[in-house]
Amino acid sequence: MGKIGINIATGSLQKEEMIVGIDLGTTNSLVAMIHPETKQPVVLKEHDGNTLVPSVIHFGENGGISIGEDAKNYLITDPQNTIFSVKRLMGKSYSDIKDYSSFFAYKIIDDNTESLVKVRVEDKFYSPIELSSFILRELKNRAEHILKTPVTKAVITVPAYFNDAQRQATRDAGKLAGLDVLRIINEPTAASLAYGLGLDKSETKTIAVYDLGGGTFDVSILRITGGIFEVLSTNGDTYLGGDDFDIAIVDLWAKQFRLTEEELKNNGNLAQELRLLAENAKIFLSSNDQFTGKAAGEEFALSKPQFDELIRPFVERTINSCKHALDDAKLTVTEIDEVVMVGGSTRVPLVKQSVASFFKRAVHDDINPDEVVAMGAAVQADILAGNNKDFLLLDITPLSLGIETMGGLMDVLIPRNTKIPSKASRQYTTQKDGQVSVKIAVYQGERDLVKDNRKLAEFSFSGIPAMPAGLPKVEISFLINADGILVVKAKELRSGTEQSIEVKPQYGLTDAEVEQMLLDSVTYAQEDIRTRALVEAKTEAAHIIDTTENFLMKNKEMLSEKELSATKASIDSLKQLIEKGDKDQLQKGIDELNEISRPYAERLMDVAVREALKNKTI
Ligand code: AMP
Repeated sequence: MGKIGINIATGSLQKEEMIVGIDLGTTNSLVAMIHPETKQPVVLKEHDGNTLVPSVIHFGENGGISIGEDAKNYLITDPQNTIFSVKRLMGKSYSDIKDYSSFFAYKIIDDNTESLVKVRVEDKFYSPIELSSFILRELKNRAEHILKTPVTKAVITVPAYFNDAQRQATRDAGKLAGLDVLRIINEPTAASLAYGLGLDKSETKTIAVYDLGGGTFDVSILRITGGIFEVLSTNGDTYLGGDDFDIAIVDLWAKQFRLTEEELKNNGNLAQELRLLAENAKIFLSSNDQFTGKAAGEEFALSKPQFDELIRPFVERTINSCKHALDDAKLTVTEIDEVVMVGGSTRVPLVKQSVASFFKRAVHDDINPDEVVAMGAAVQADILAGNNKDFLLLDITPLSLGIETMGGLMDVLIPRNTKIPSKASRQYTTQKDGQVSVKIAVYQGERDLVKDNRKLAEFSFSGIPAMPAGLPKVEISFLINADGILVVKAKELRSGTEQSIEVKPQYGLTDAEVEQMLLDSVTYAQEDIRTRALVEAKTEAAHIIDTTENFLMKNKEMLSEKELSATKASIDSLKQLIEKGDKDQLQKGIDELNEISRPYAERLMDVAVREALKNKTI
């Protein structure tokens, strides 16, 4: 039974939360949700039956913006103002894409090669995030129109190979479009979920997801254990897809009709007509053996064997990528339990056969390969809405978790973006002789110094047996359970003394705060590296002073007067250098004290060895 809430402020009834899944694609985007009655994922359809919204944006003369099919029509007539393939620009700097800039018909701005790209339309500049947000807003509007209810929450998919910057950019685009992005999930994970893979918590499965779209190819090897998806490897080619098949057909026809490249170039209409006819031919040959069609008053034909020969080199390239992905995951073909097909071009029979024969098993291709990712995103959305309680939430830590070590440094135990549940532990020791307790302060954040991060908890771990400094072995473990609760445990391994506390790290930070902390970690990265180096040098200096002073106290008589005064002078100057805080000078001071103490330390060692040998009986 669904829940009905009452909004106390307005007194109105609130419907059950609606969370949609969005596949924000390079060529097409679409929205799916779990049908409230059938409980099955469905893709939202327009009146005309269309589910796909082309990821194309057209900026009109009057300032109007059109998106989708309408915008697509301008690709040929107004290419300068028609933006496609925005996804390829997400989180990229100009230097990342400069080798491909001829691919984009619109203007990509290169003012500073290290900064993120912008797209110029007339006298306005747009970031890929803004452009993606236009597409997302259009999807949101369409969904609201179809569902007749506000849509404010979404799960959005991204390729498995997307890095943090690209994921963050996608999240920001969602926010800009007025969506609360509950989760960014990997496309291959979504596709697997759509097939119900991973929904059984007790099973472990290794899955290959083969995704061949219009312009991109990627293959991902995933492992699901207890409902947690892990990407073992990815491979692919960001400029290989069904469009290449179309171009190969056009090239063949052009050759048959002795059309030169010049002629095609100068006759844009003919080129475009042939491209469309070629795509028709390709699609037709997915379920027929012979194609004939007309363009520019001529008849063009293509047989299935001819088509297969044309595309074989491309298909072989994708199979090669599959081999690489397996190698990287250190797996053999026989260790793959399931193969999932994604992307419109996997409808081509030769593609399907080649993949099935490479993996030596039948592939999952029952679900429409254009819709499978959005449907999986809807499955994930439903889990997040709490409608599928049996299933574990797939979550990641938004910020790194660690403890404070000497000098106020942050020692990260669980890095940000780690899938939860997760566990990590590390050993520490005491700083002083006879120390019986240590302070354990838990922090969250990306900066090198804990003072710049957020303190989550602090406790004093006591009950360490008195031992010389460095001898106790204190193991600190962090365990985040599936609900996002962090349990910090401290255990002294020699005595077995143990203590633990529970921390709730997921709550209490708003999205904006998380964002600010991440931004800060980038802004201050240089400064942090310098500070960390200085703090480490100071800690090392303090440690060597401590050890040397200890040594002097116990072994004074073994040193000459000259050695004694040189050592004391060096210690004093090192103490001053700690105050001064210049890292390079400190390092010099440390080296100097080491240099002075080495001869007598060695002498002492010799004495100790002689003593030991003397007492030894055979
Ligand atoms: P996607 O990027 O996943 O939307 O895939 C789009 C690509 O799939 C385009 O190159 C389409 O021409 C191609 N495609 C769509 N339907 C078929 C089909 N029935 N047979 C072959 N290719 C298709």
